[in-house]
Amino acid sequence: MGNPDTLLPMDGDEAHGSPRLRRGGRVHATNEGDVMNPSCIFCEIVRGVAPAFKVYEDEHTLTFMDAFPVTDGHTLVVTKAHCTDLFDASPPLLQAVMATAKRVAHALREVVRPDGLMVFQLNGAAAGQTVFHYHMHLMPRTSGEPLMLHSRSAGDPGRLRALATALSAAMPHA
Ligand code: 5GP
Ligand code: ZN
Repeated sequence: MGNPDTLLPMDGDEAHGSPRLRRGGRVHATNEGDVMNPSCIFCEIVRGVAPAFKVYEDEHTLTFMDAFPVTDGHTLVVTKAHCTDLFDASPPLLQAVMATAKRVAHALREVVRPDGLMVFQLNGAAAGQTVFHYHMHLMPRTSGEPLMLHSRSAGDPGRLRALATALSAAMPHA
């Protein structure tokens, strides 16, 4: 999808770009499109250093189960390259995330059969963002359930594994 150069996090706007990309040495690229932050939990999951119940992976995105699911099937789609938020991510990378999110949404509808599906993405601590690596939430919703963005309870590993396996099998073709 597109020129890999354009899929890197944006680094052009001195006034509004990501401070992480300018803090010397904290973010590094080993290959084109392979931008990592060594202190970032989602970079560790992308690198396979930290565990996650993975659903799907392609060149630019990784999908895995949220470890603290608010609802059954709560899934995250992250960029493989480290970028902080909407302001930091390049438009082609955002497109890649949305294209994956649509496919995961279809898989969630088939596997979880929720009443609805909430898709959201938080930018900055003031907006509730807690992991500063760009990601999109897909949260199946049941009618009448209270609206929450986060949970403090870890998901049952057996359930998360089963969901990841079922969602992976239900992913429609691109
Ligand atoms: P945010 O608040 O940044 O939009 O969402 C971060 C999400 O990442 C939360 O829903 C939180 O439960 C999830 N999360 C935090 N740490 C981990 C982790 O180590 N593994 C996984 N799979 N999810 C995590
Ligand atoms: Zn990261």
